[in-house]
Amino acid sequence: MNADVPPPARTASCACGGLSVTCPGEPMLVALCHCRECQKRTGGPFGVAAFYPEAAVITEGASTTYRRTGDSGEEITFHFCPTCGSTVFWYPKVKPGTVAVALGAFADGSFPAPAKQVYTRHRHPWVPLDIAPEAPS
Ligand SMILES: [Zn+2]
Ligand SMILES: [Zn+2]
Repeated sequence: MNADVPPPARTASCACGGLSVTCPGEPMLVALCHCRECQKRTGGPFGVAAFYPEAAVITEGASTTYRRTGDSGEEITFHFCPTCGSTVFWYPKVKPGTVAVALGAFADGSFPAPAKQVYTRHRHPWVPLDIAPEAPS
């Protein structure tokens, strides 16, 4: 390992490119969530988040925020593009110092697959069950 070579970075961005986040190295965790809030947020049957240390990522561009309280009782602050509306990243207070990045925003088919899934009780029946290991939600 050469210490002068930075770890590979991936950039996630909104549909118009105005809001982005660059994430070095591999995500700490990739998780798939079937909850109804994720369904509403993404417009799809589930959401997938890649978690990184907040201090390691670089965000660029203007964002509008939306806050909601998660099931944990802790607040989550979502950052979305004021122009195109894509949610790119969010800060779950329940995981301090961590930023969640919308997997779809990387638009990268080689991105690591989810290591767990939660809220399977809200899974749409046509979504495969073996998409990721189930974890308590
Ligand atoms: Zn945008
Ligand atoms: Zn969810």
